[in-house]
Amino acid sequence: MSQTLSKPQCRACGKNKMTLWATSPDRLLSTHELFHYWKCHACGSLTLFPLPSTESLRDHYPTSYPPFLSHSKPTISKPPPVHTRMVSLPLPFLHALRNFFTGDLDWWWLPLDFKGRVLEIGSSNGAFLERLSRRCPYASVEGIEINDQAAAQARARGFNVHTGDLFHIQLTSTSYDLIYLSHVLEHLDDPQKYLMHLYSLLAPRGRIVILIPNSTSWSAYLFRSYWFALEAPRHFFIPSSRQLHTLLHDAGFRNITTRFRVYPKSFLKSIRYLMGKGQGNVAYKLVMCLTPFAKIASWAKATSVMEIVGEKNV
Ligand SMILES: [Zn+2]
Repeated sequence: MSQTLSKPQCRACGKNKMTLWATSPDRLLSTHELFHYWKCHACGSLTLFPLPSTESLRDHYPTSYPPFLSHSKPTISKPPPVHTRMVSLPLPFLHALRNFFTGDLDWWWLPLDFKGRVLEIGSSNGAFLERLSRRCPYASVEGIEINDQAAAQARARGFNVHTGDLFHIQLTSTSYDLIYLSHVLEHLDDPQKYLMHLYSLLAPRGRIVILIPNSTSWSAYLFRSYWFALEAPRHFFIPSSRQLHTLLHDAGFRNITTRFRVYPKSFLKSIRYLMGKGQGNVAYKLVMCLTPFAKIASWAKATSVMEIVGEKNV
């Protein structure tokens, strides 16, 4: 979508009937400049307008930006606390119970005997590639990461990670079996163009997996400018679940499935912003207390984070 318009245009559907929905500073970095998010009447998605300049945007992605450092725990970590180990026992009943309450549906789209080619967009320091490689030792994995330092850490872990922009990188393959994007698409100015390009990089029956915030979540309505997932001005758009499905469908994907992740931390982190506190750890006990409510939000398709899977059906 065009960035040079004088009026906001929905980045998810292209329509221009928009209402100003929230005005927010960069709460993560505690800066004062305000950014405006507009809600699309047609599809319910949010669009940042106007976009910050490229120069100004650079300041909003410091090297300390958490996703560049995320999951940077050492490979061998301390043993988890006893109560965590209790629910991790390999008993089917406990697994089912835990999954019911936490919505822990990670990897449902990845069979254990998966042997294909995987490309992660925004692979940070390679933590996800490492987890995937452990789970599927015969998979061939590589990543793309825009941050030099994070990419270097991933390479130090032994992964083939490209640095730079997807459209200008010489990839190892043009036929991936799985492309994974965790909280990447919402940072882009033309998601449809990006999705179409990713579609072209998939092998027949290859899958795309996307994690992204949900503009029609209960937390979004409740907190608006203080909503943790708004993340002004790094998120250029936040789609509604309906429009996200349409975006994938229009890019050519079929067998599209959306799941709504149980993520009570979004609520608690938004409360922190509302109370004037910055980003910080939220108490594990509070997360557990809120999990049943987050589960209800998941049933109502109203959690803050969606996971959508689409297949190249040719
Ligand atoms: Zn729209």
